[in-house]
Amino acid sequence: MRIGALEAGGTKMVCAIGNEKGEIFEKISIPTKTPETTMPEMIQWFQSKKIETLGIGCFGPIDPDKDSPTYGYITSTPKLAWKDYNIVGAFEEQLCCPVGFDTDVNGSALGEVTFGQAKGKKNIVYLTVGTGVGAGVYAEGKLLHGMLHPEAGHILMRKHPEDHYEGKCPYHKTCLEGLAAGPAIEARWGKKGIELADKKEVWELEAYYIGQALVDLILVLSPEKIILGGGVMHQEHMMPLVREEVRKQMAGYIKTKQMDDLDNYIVLPSLNDNQGIMGALKLAVDELELEK
Ligand code: ADP
Ligand code: ZN
Repeated sequence: MRIGALEAGGTKMVCAIGNEKGEIFEKISIPTKTPETTMPEMIQWFQSKKIETLGIGCFGPIDPDKDSPTYGYITSTPKLAWKDYNIVGAFEEQLCCPVGFDTDVNGSALGEVTFGQAKGKKNIVYLTVGTGVGAGVYAEGKLLHGMLHPEAGHILMRKHPEDHYEGKCPYHKTCLEGLAAGPAIEARWGKKGIELADKKEVWELEAYYIGQALVDLILVLSPEKIILGGGVMHQEHMMPLVREEVRKQMAGYIKTKQMDDLDNYIVLPSLNDNQGIMGALKLAVDELELEK
């Protein structure tokens, strides 16, 4: 089967063709400009590939509720050209095939449970720390949506007593994204994360916030594995610092074999940065099954 997959991001649209085994045959990247310019490029590419079904993991917030009149829309995004844009409708109309749709991070979570290191697990969290912070949640064998979809990048944080940065989120200032996403690091320290690699205090503070967020997510969702992706996690020293903060801030309250083995519990993505695209392939297959 030829399947289309789209990882729709704020800076680039990664389009791919693959199959139900998660194999990827070809992949292109198109800069995210406006729907008027970017959509026709993607549609043309997918049309030329003769796909049977398409899956989209999309930046958000989005409306994933099939019973809602705005199902398939990108909703209140700060990327104004895409605000209230019916991305699923546009693809359905032009490609005439089923279109599966979810958040980018739910897509990545699905990629990891279907094809990656979380295969077979029923409860996982995928957290990305990049330009923004987002969490995908797979709970009891299904992607979690609820009222909307998880927005765990915006959970409110207890500030570190020595952190005097005001926070960058326009809604909450000092939520996780406002304190710990790439742009917050840059605003607090005056340089991009990548240029701060040798500054220990930067990464200790960063781990303090990510660790705190993970403790909350562990307590609420009881995941069996936590996968941390995104540009900021490319800092090699982050992972050990984050695990140490989780251990410290959990303070021994939860005693499980996973908590005793944080090296295998809190991990980096396993699919060579294809977890989002592979998840989109699975979204496409699932949608095709549903519409049969
Ligand atoms: P996006 O979130 O836009 O999809 P990324 O996940 O690559 O993309 O995140 C980009 C953010 O991560 C930027 O704020 C950038 O400064 C930061 N970043 C990227 N690489 C690194 C790195 N090696 N170390 C620290 N920060 C990084
Ligand atoms: Zn926020």
